[in-house]
Amino acid sequence: MFTNSAHNELVLSRKRDALIAELRGKGIQSESVLEAINKIPRHKMIDSALVHRAYEDTALPIMLRQTISQPYTVARQTELLELKTGEKVLEIGTGSGYQCAVLCELTKKVYSIERHTEMYHHAKEMLLRLGYRPTLKAGDGTLGWTAYAPFDAIVVTAGAPVVPEALIQQLSIGGRLVIPVGDKDSQTMKRIIRISETEFKTEDHNSFKFVPLIGKQGWQ
Ligand code: SAM
Repeated sequence: MFTNSAHNELVLSRKRDALIAELRGKGIQSESVLEAINKIPRHKMIDSALVHRAYEDTALPIMLRQTISQPYTVARQTELLELKTGEKVLEIGTGSGYQCAVLCELTKKVYSIERHTEMYHHAKEMLLRLGYRPTLKAGDGTLGWTAYAPFDAIVVTAGAPVVPEALIQQLSIGGRLVIPVGDKDSQTMKRIIRISETEFKTEDHNSFKFVPLIGKQGWQ
């Protein structure tokens, strides 16, 4: 016999399994990324009125007219990072903390910056409650985080007009920067790999639509 809350948890866990199958169907291949996404209680990171939609593969509104990223987008960006355990990763745009929680499942060294102070506090509390311990700050992520650089991986979860030079310079040799770049309506997911002190390889992946990256080396 199930209590109401055990029944609800079971329903949500089945929806999460269905989401993982959907992500596989859309081409996500990394088992470690799918496993990480399957562990995150996305329903606890959104407004209670939207809980029934938590495991739809769609972005949902959060506070301050921002969005919790679409699970496919989180999966694709994380897959492109090719994170290995023990690597140091920087996220720009903490937002709800969803992508940050996925990163925390993959490595212990997670740093994340959010430009809205109120959202930073909200995400910090939420991530702590869920048992995650990333290093967070409120500020302009287009400048990176020199105190902790270099990073093995950097992921930008807002759309940039150009690739911020500061982020490129904060990549370690072999480091990967995954960033959507374009105009405000559509961006191409770019992966920039640092080959040496001065050489970089740039790849173009799928098209996406993100909220704008606002800052000194982003949109004004
Ligand atoms: N990673 C988030 C998630 O998993 O839900 C996605 C959040 S939303 C798509 C993008 C976030 O980037 C917003 O919270 C926005 O405030 C933030 N942002 C925009 N420009 C920024 C900047 N220069 N530095 C840090 N955060 C920024």
